[in-house]
Amino acid sequence: METRIIKKENLAGIVKKLSEDMLVYAPVQEEDNVLFKVLEKGMEPLIEFDNAKNAPKNFFFPQTETMMRYLKGERGEELTDVPEEMQEAVLFGVRPCDARSFVLLDNVFNDSKYRDPYYAERREKTTIVSFACVEPPYTTCFCTSVDGHPFSTEGIDISLVDLGDEFLAEFLTPKGESLLVRLGELPKADEASMSKKEALSGEAADKIKSKVPGRSIKPWLDENFEHPFWDTIHQSCLACGTCTYLCPTCHCFDITDEIKKEEGKRIRSWDSCMYWLFTMETSGHNPRPSQKERWRQRLMHKFKYFVDNFDAIACVGCGRCVMYCPVNIDIRKIVQDISKL
Ligand code: SF4
Ligand code: SF4
Repeated sequence: METRIIKKENLAGIVKKLSEDMLVYAPVQEEDNVLFKVLEKGMEPLIEFDNAKNAPKNFFFPQTETMMRYLKGERGEELTDVPEEMQEAVLFGVRPCDARSFVLLDNVFNDSKYRDPYYAERREKTTIVSFACVEPPYTTCFCTSVDGHPFSTEGIDISLVDLGDEFLAEFLTPKGESLLVRLGELPKADEASMSKKEALSGEAADKIKSKVPGRSIKPWLDENFEHPFWDTIHQSCLACGTCTYLCPTCHCFDITDEIKKEEGKRIRSWDSCMYWLFTMETSGHNPRPSQKERWRQRLMHKFKYFVDNFDAIACVGCGRCVMYCPVNIDIRKIVQDISKL
């Protein structure tokens, strides 16, 4: 593994230079929000920030994407256009929790049995550069309760650790190492920098005070699909879908055809298990008729079904759903309450 040092004052310039040759997706300030955006000329990538409001899953799994275009003719439908080949890209400034979400999403979109070509191509051509959480940004962070860590390197090609005036850059994968030549001359990291990183890593984990019994509620979930507890959590839920749209691991989608005269396009868009229409059947029957069933599904999917299918919790503890729910529903409290039943 290559390890280098990058002076703090040089990092934004290096990222901007990269964006002249490659697609770079980076956190930028937009009014009151930090958002991941395609870095265009004149835009400044953030080097010091908490986390972006939008999860970077949007880059691999866009909120809306055209999968194909077609013409309806006398002989049926004829394909006229499929998306252009994806170019090489860098996804810069990802937090370790969000990088872990890609590893979880790979189970769904890019495994040996089911490969989503749109998602998989973007994943294969993208180098992920992260900032380790030396100072975990929010009191709502709980990555250590759901198999994560503020210095986790899962899903990351290049990890940047803030050592004060400089960053330690660890080139963790061949994809990460192949980017090294584009970054200019960088001095090698010494033993002292590596030891400092190890110390910061331990301290960072200790700074995460929010704890939930992530794995231990699974046996209860296995046995209690009809428990009265499910009547208690959804009462104030507005079904706005904010929690699912901001969540880095939520991945429900809908596919629709839009047809104007003879021209059609097939579009994939995010959907949400918090919406009544999500499970509405053509007959008018809805197997999840109220918000109670929808909330149970959200919790079960993250802490039971995903564990059953992939031995992983489908929550990385980023805290976005906790921070942005308009009625303060807190998934940490729900998990804690279940653990006491
Ligand atoms: S469920 Fe909430 S805390 Fe967990 S990954 Fe999704 S948004 Fe983050
Ligand atoms: S953000 Fe809150 S109110 Fe909106 S759907 Fe999620 S739990 Fe319900």
